[in-house]
Amino acid sequence: MAQFDIAVIGLGAMGSAALATLARRGVRAVGIEQFKPAHDKGSSHGETRIIRLGYFEHPSYVPLLRRAYELWRELEAETGQRLMRITGIVEIGPPDSAVVSGTLAASQQHALPHEVMDAAETMRRFPAFRLPEHYVGVFQPDGGTLAVEDATFAQFDSTQRHPNVEPRLFERVSSVTPRSGHVRIETEHTTIEAGIAIVTAGAWLPKLLPSLPVRLRVTREVQAWFKPIDPAPFADGKFPVFLLENRHGQHYGFPPNAQGLLKIAKHHHANETIDPDEGARAVDTDDEALIRPALADHIPAANGALAAAKTCLYTMTPDGHFIIDRLPGAENIIVASPCSGHGFKFAPVIGEILSDLATTGVTRHDISRFSLARFG
Ligand SMILES: Cc1cc2nc3c(=O)[nH]c(=O)nc-3n(C[C@H](O)[C@H](O)[C@H](O)COP(=O)(O)OP(=O)(O)OC[C@H]3O[C@@H](n4cnc5c(N)ncnc54)[C@H](O)[C@@H]3O)c2cc1C
Repeated sequence: MAQFDIAVIGLGAMGSAALATLARRGVRAVGIEQFKPAHDKGSSHGETRIIRLGYFEHPSYVPLLRRAYELWRELEAETGQRLMRITGIVEIGPPDSAVVSGTLAASQQHALPHEVMDAAETMRRFPAFRLPEHYVGVFQPDGGTLAVEDATFAQFDSTQRHPNVEPRLFERVSSVTPRSGHVRIETEHTTIEAGIAIVTAGAWLPKLLPSLPVRLRVTREVQAWFKPIDPAPFADGKFPVFLLENRHGQHYGFPPNAQGLLKIAKHHHANETIDPDEGARAVDTDDEALIRPALADHIPAANGALAAAKTCLYTMTPDGHFIIDRLPGAENIIVASPCSGHGFKFAPVIGEILSDLATTGVTRHDISRFSLARFG
């Protein structure tokens, strides 16, 4: 039976980051993934992800974000690849909306650079937007995008330079069982014994660890690429990454890609629960209908032909915050479920935290918000 100090189960964004950190630290580890690295069946695909510093979800994420920015830059230096693009981000909505009030709270508490603009100033600066008079725009210069597949692959690939790490691809784990002093991992091909298991299975986590004492919900999300009717207001520098809380929901989007297409989506799309193994049904006109009204009202020049669309999965906790903790009753199983629709930007710092917990039992990062105990 193969034996390792640490096993990482699921090599998506978080698992690859954890394995990369363990690899650099010289730990004897195995990483097991059911598909290929940077595949498109989970939560880490679709060209881009947003990174931002003033975090509307809660100010306590800011120190983790500072470290994440540092670690993304280190990964860029290590791989010679450009993975992060700083474009600035504008977060728009009524003054009491979550994105505006939350971003301001985090930015003020942590003294982060930001500008507050009324609707007229936001539209002057970013002419693609049409906004009601009472809306506010908060601009953060540090916001930007991450190349999601390239960044996930780069983390996985960096482990290849370390002989202490063994990746096993196209191998599905069927069970993870705590035993005294170790964890027994059954895959479809073999049995593995590890001192500690880090389970980063994303949307498959509820299936793999049914004893997890919280109900996670896997939802079908849609990312859509539109051809602008008029490309002029999207020219360089005129259209940063944005979050827009409006009467149709919370929409977000990106500057034009290399093909001149705008990726725009609705956070929590139809809020539809699905089984990750059944695959998400194809994108249809009902999906478009959840995005177009926001474009018609607020970014009319973006409301052109649909050029492409892809589904993706969120794994939602009940409160939208992450889980990073030991499995109750099984101290040698560490669980990380940092999705809830906003985890990607944190991947390298979460990899660092998981590696800390697995190798030393503690981490210098404050992860108290992510404990399983909060669910009772
Ligand atoms: C449409 C969309 C937009 C998003 N936008 C943003 C954004 O702008 N900014 C941001 O920060 N975050 C964003 N997120 C969230 C972010 O992408 C996720 O938090 C992150 O990608 C989750 O990574 P993960 O490693 O947990 O999951 P995944 O990357 O899906 O990895 C889980 C891995 O585990 C493997 N696995 C599962 N079960 C097994 C098994 N039994 N055996 C072997 N392998 C297994 C899977 O195949 C998969 O590769 C978005 C998510 C979506 C879907």
